[in-house]
Amino acid sequence: MDKIKMVTPLVEMDGDEMTRILWQIIKEELLLPFIDLKTEYYDLGLEHRNETDDQVTTDSAEATKKYGVAVKCATITPNAARMTEYHLKEMWKSPNGTIRSILDGTVFRAPIVVKGIEPCVKNWEEPITIARHAYGDIYKNVEMKIPGAGKAELVFTAADGTVTREVIHEFKGEGILQGVHNTDASIESFAKACFNYALDTKQDLWFGAKDTISKKYDHNFKDIFQEIYEKEYKEKFEAAGIEYFYSLIDDIVARVMKAKGGFIWACKNYDGDVMSDMVSSAFGSLAMMTSVLVSPTGVYEYEAAHGTVQRHYYKHLKGEETSTNSVATIFAWTGALRKRGELDGTQELVSFADKLERATLSTIEEGKMTKDLALITTLKGVTVLNSEDFIKAVRKTYETI
Ligand code: NAD
Repeated sequence: MDKIKMVTPLVEMDGDEMTRILWQIIKEELLLPFIDLKTEYYDLGLEHRNETDDQVTTDSAEATKKYGVAVKCATITPNAARMTEYHLKEMWKSPNGTIRSILDGTVFRAPIVVKGIEPCVKNWEEPITIARHAYGDIYKNVEMKIPGAGKAELVFTAADGTVTREVIHEFKGEGILQGVHNTDASIESFAKACFNYALDTKQDLWFGAKDTISKKYDHNFKDIFQEIYEKEYKEKFEAAGIEYFYSLIDDIVARVMKAKGGFIWACKNYDGDVMSDMVSSAFGSLAMMTSVLVSPTGVYEYEAAHGTVQRHYYKHLKGEETSTNSVATIFAWTGALRKRGELDGTQELVSFADKLERATLSTIEEGKMTKDLALITTLKGVTVLNSEDFIKAVRKTYETI
């Protein structure tokens, strides 16, 4: 059988620990036998990031800008323990943070829905994709503990020296104070990424904020979304048969709980942080969440939403068997290959991605799965497979469907 040919390479970002092991097996078992795989390879494993003074992360993001589609393995974000473990020269920044800021991207996270892993919310039949604005608000805050009585003010000094001030509170005793900001440029990028992704995936877009209470700050989010929608997207949305819908965040939360799924929920930074964990755990498992970073110019980086599964890696190093779930990493590859196929007009690549996803889901639906899913499945009499055997079982299904 002839292997599927690729026109443009994918940017391949290798990673760390257990997911690095899975990465290799996925390539050997599920990709290389069927595709003449063209990738531009960047090793984002922590050792290599340290050797290159993290230059490799920047290079991989620049390559993503050039080619348009990347697939990324989970990577370690160093902390104090990792400094010693890997003899690091510096506490390198999170690769995801670096890549996100170079691409100015928005992260869309969606659960992989499969029969046998039922969401806690019984009416959720289709995935709910969360788009989190990843700039500003409390994540770039300035805080103070107020020691006693006094006046707190908001002061803005314009470039021309004009000063605007507003009293925040006259403290009579101890208290707390916080300053937060956002920029129109960042909100605009976020809005555009959301509108583009909604069109791309043909899903409605919901956005919620608290504009009734926050009449300038949150209202600004609402206004920017609305203006951009009217100006640039309304007609495209109507043609695609999808909707943009704004409401108060509390109303949105209530509607989400009653909805069937199948839409994108755009969230301000804090809401996205909290709600994405709620949605992923209610859908069953962190190991079944995909994640894609989309830039406002239409550059895509696909990955699994989970980390490097450190605990399993240490077991693996001791020669013990692991049963690590590779589904989200497989879907990172299929997402990237499908997008590459769509951009290059290579239908075989798109069909390959569809079929590999079907094979992965069928394998689980037939009762073959890793331990994390076996613990939560509603299917009876399932077979728990180790990390490698699950991927081999997917290959077998792929070859028979
Ligand atoms: P983790 O996602 O690796 O694990 C969290 C928990 O979920 C663990 O109990 C783990 O056993 C379980 N889990 C996650 N994925 C699983 C899978 N595929 N199969 C089975 N069980 C799974 O997060 P962590 O333990 O907090 O972090 C480990 C490392 O990953 C850290 O160094 C962190 O910096 C990194 N990390 C990277 C990314 C990324 O690259 N996108 C995201 C999160 C964490």
